[in-house]
Amino acid sequence: MTRRAGFVYSDILSRHILRKNHVMVPTRLRYTYELLEAYDVFQQPGVQVVEPRQATEAELLTFHSQEYVDAVRSLSRGEGTYPPGRYGFSQKGDNPIFSGMYGAYLWSTGASVKAAELVAGGQLDVAFNASGGLHHAMPDHASGFCVFNDPVIAINALLGRGLRVAYVDIDAHHGDGVQHAFYGTDRVLTISLHEAGTFLFPGTGFPDESGTGQGVGYAVNVPLYPYTDDALYLWALREVVLPLVRRFQPDVLVTQLGIDTHVQDPITHLVLTVQGFAQVVKELGEMGYPWLALGGGGYDLPAVARGWTLAFAAMAGVDLPDEIPQEYQERYGIKRLRDPEPPQVDSQMRDQARRYAEQTVASVKRLIFPRHGL
Ligand SMILES: [Zn+2]
Repeated sequence: MTRRAGFVYSDILSRHILRKNHVMVPTRLRYTYELLEAYDVFQQPGVQVVEPRQATEAELLTFHSQEYVDAVRSLSRGEGTYPPGRYGFSQKGDNPIFSGMYGAYLWSTGASVKAAELVAGGQLDVAFNASGGLHHAMPDHASGFCVFNDPVIAINALLGRGLRVAYVDIDAHHGDGVQHAFYGTDRVLTISLHEAGTFLFPGTGFPDESGTGQGVGYAVNVPLYPYTDDALYLWALREVVLPLVRRFQPDVLVTQLGIDTHVQDPITHLVLTVQGFAQVVKELGEMGYPWLALGGGGYDLPAVARGWTLAFAAMAGVDLPDEIPQEYQERYGIKRLRDPEPPQVDSQMRDQARRYAEQTVASVKRLIFPRHGL
């Protein structure tokens, strides 16, 4: 299926450095852009590169507190007015302060809002802002490499147009900030699939976190066991995620496409391949809703470039050969787009992962499905 697909990109999104040796490396966006370029994806019919814009302060304030926004701006300038620790920042921790921080996150946040506007306005069928998806940021503090919560801010822009939104988060970590924002409403269905909080940051995201008040049944959590592979992940997606989204019939689908589920990712324990990840993305897109796609985690750089290239190709309806174009091979030493084989998982671990996924799916069906008449 060919779609009008936009890839939101400018080099300005990939230039900042959180800290030397920090695991979150924004140049991964440039590696992805260059790989798509090497494959001539941007020359395909219906495909375009979209220039980002900066978010406005008013847009930030649809989720974040004025005090927090003022603090981020001031800390970014190196001023001593606000104590960093109160807002989730520390030089050695997950969220270091760096020069130009405020501007860098205005760009990645504005890129998500612009992508949302293009999709909501009907100019594009799908827009992918790989610099977005910073799903852990909270109203008054930074968390998990996330300063401003662009998914929430983009969804707020869609809600402002009177639209209903389904948010599906396939990052290896629980999408806690987005869940928090919409926990009490039935206008946004949030679904997060992730490595269970027992094993991984931020420690939340169990099936019984299912919303409050009007929002009961509209927060959905699908925790998975370490060593969950492509087949098991796709099974959980098809059992609970696709039926719930179809039933909800959103005006816009928003997806957070963190690729830290990958087998080579250094900070998580799921074992997906890039082609398994891309299949998940494809099946989400095949539901046919106007689609805002955001990035997210992803800390093995070749896996990020390959996975998001395959994901955007799926969005645009373009098939890519497995052999990576020569020039890119020479520059980065990556030869194949897809992973060679699904990883070998110890049979005991695989059984444990399967049993855990079965329990999770059963819990979601028991706690959530009745609320939707399923
Ligand atoms: Zn993550």
